[in-house]
Amino acid sequence: MLEDKNPELTPISVYGEFGLIKHLTENFSFENSSTEISIGDDCAVINPEGQKVVITTDVLAEGVHFNLGYVPLKHLGYKAVAVNLSDVAAMNAKPTQILVAIAASNRFPVEALEEIYVGISLACKHYKVDLVGGDTTSSNSGLVITITAIGLEESGNIVARSGAKQNDLLVVTGDLGGAYMGLQILEREHSVFLANPNMQPEMEGFDYILERQLKPEARTDIKAILKVLDIQPTSMIDVSDGLSSETLHLSDQSKVGFRIYEEKIPMDSLTISTAEEFNLNPVMCALNGGEDYELLFTISPTDFEKIKNHPDFTIIGHAVDLQQGNYLVARGSGELIALNAQGWDAFLNRG
Ligand code: ADP
Ligand code: MG
Repeated sequence: MLEDKNPELTPISVYGEFGLIKHLTENFSFENSSTEISIGDDCAVINPEGQKVVITTDVLAEGVHFNLGYVPLKHLGYKAVAVNLSDVAAMNAKPTQILVAIAASNRFPVEALEEIYVGISLACKHYKVDLVGGDTTSSNSGLVITITAIGLEESGNIVARSGAKQNDLLVVTGDLGGAYMGLQILEREHSVFLANPNMQPEMEGFDYILERQLKPEARTDIKAILKVLDIQPTSMIDVSDGLSSETLHLSDQSKVGFRIYEEKIPMDSLTISTAEEFNLNPVMCALNGGEDYELLFTISPTDFEKIKNHPDFTIIGHAVDLQQGNYLVARGSGELIALNAQGWDAFLNRG
């Protein structure tokens, strides 16, 4: 696909900048009445219809955030959108529009960009967001994709990181650690392939965690579920860097500490067995693995009955006074292990 000498592939220069933008974006349609003017003008125009506007942006750089040795371009396009929409979901807002800026070296033919846009288009359809603009440029090396996501929401529904109160319950959606273990499998098989290109990769049986890494979904569905349960979170964040780091962010912004109970952390059985195969502590993968794109939030203790048996949510801990710090409560012993952005070494050496 990326061989620039392949005569079947089309160099970007054949289209020129404007032709290329048109070619890549002409099949996108619109879902949101708030989209008034989109691609083709100097700016997009969005009508917030009396709501608050939330905006976020993320850069994905080749070699830093993804490795094209094992990440298919279509998945890259989809994931680039999903990770941005995850930030919108973490504000309890509804994502409505995205802008896509791409810098690509001449190593990338038009067909490679088409694949990325297939992924972007799938994500736009799945999440019902409109592609309303972007920028396209060449780069001297590699591929960089920057996506900006916009969401709209009634001001009373928006949830910041800063509202958690002492005794609030700490809740997480889905399960954790899977994306990190998926990455370990991809990296292992990629290095086997580099050492001997005739070896077949052994990916069978790892579908769930590979999907968690390659095709993560933003939890834009959670907002509606919370609404039905009549729960307004007091603070919220998405789990992009690992449970430990995100909990510390809530602590920082809300001025409370947290206790997380090790035995409560939700993990899929495939994540656990794969971690053990790699001699990793599965809980460490949940705490520090990252890229799970689940939502972590706090709720008032009076909402306990509404959420306690819901399959989408796990109560993993609670907020305490800031002075009491942030700790994992170890399974069995009850030992307190400090939550630390990079501090899982101590946890690993626990034996
Ligand atoms: P300008 O010169 O005003 O920056 P551009 O020529 O960069 O405009 O872009 C023309 C139109 O195409 C604009 O509406 C812009 O938002 C849109 N656009 C440019 N690149 C992309 C892209 N990669 N994906 C989607 N829309 C794009
Ligand atoms: Mg431009």
